Amino acid sequence: MTGEFRKVLLLVIDGLRPDAVTPAVMPVLSGLIEDGWSAADAVTVRPSVTVAALTSLATGVSPERHGLVHPRLTSLGRVPALAPLPIALRRMGVATTVVAPVLGGAARWVAGALLRLGGITRLLPAPPAPGHVIAGATDQLLGNPRPEFVVAYVNDTDIAGHAWGWMSAPYLQAAAMVDRGLTALRAALTDPGTLVIVCADHGGGGVLHNDHDHPHPTNDRIPLFLLGKQVQCGATSREPARLLDIPPTVLWALGGTAPAQYEGRVLNEAFVRELIST
Ligand SMILES: [Zn+2]
Repeated sequence: MTGEFRKVLLLVIDGLRPDAVTPAVMPVLSGLIEDGWSAADAVTVRPSVTVAALTSLATGVSPERHGLVHPRLTSLGRVPALAPLPIALRRMGVATTVVAPVLGGAARWVAGALLRLGGITRLLPAPPAPGHVIAGATDQLLGNPRPEFVVAYVNDTDIAGHAWGWMSAPYLQAAAMVDRGLTALRAALTDPGTLVIVCADHGGGGVLHNDHDHPHPTNDRIPLFLLGKQVQCGATSREPARLLDIPPTVLWALGGTAPAQYEGRVLNEAFVRELIST
């Protein structure tokens, strides 16, 4: 039982809270998820910080295991003992491309670290505007005839959240700007062999109005959407879902299985029944 996708696009919107995803603020994303699958109660890892969450996405294990919670090169030593997702994918003949803004901070650090470990095939810098990043990721996906995993990262909502507070007017404007960039996803979604996953790395405003690292449900909660023609249409799931479920789901979708140490599960309930039962 494996998935039948040839392409997976994972879009990480740094610091996007699920309650910002409304038709008024994010009409494009709201429209896309009408035809897709949503996890109502998804959570990230703890600590709810970007480096920890991105490293969990890249390695399939929680921060307790990978140890990367701050962008410090000294803690990289534990990563080679793990089974990074890009390396597992490369064994299956699937390349990994990361598209991030030129000044993308934490994402570029994690991508650079994984690049040095040999997992990521390409790191494509994009101009620091969400539309450019998402269009760059979509172009990469559509232009490559081979199986591929593309990760796109945008951080406009996190920057606005730290500067003005989560759910403030400027924060919601940043969410709306990211949303306008999401129109590029429509072209990718016409191919039935493509799976698009949209998530955040953490919420924000749970304890401090302009931060997200304290343990708090509002900092833990993340949006998690799966989109594509082989995804349950218009379904909202209340089954427990975690950021850690994304790496096994990506591997499954592209025809593989997760290494034993991966802590998450395949989000089976997100896919059309024929795909799960064959
Ligand atoms: Zn932040």
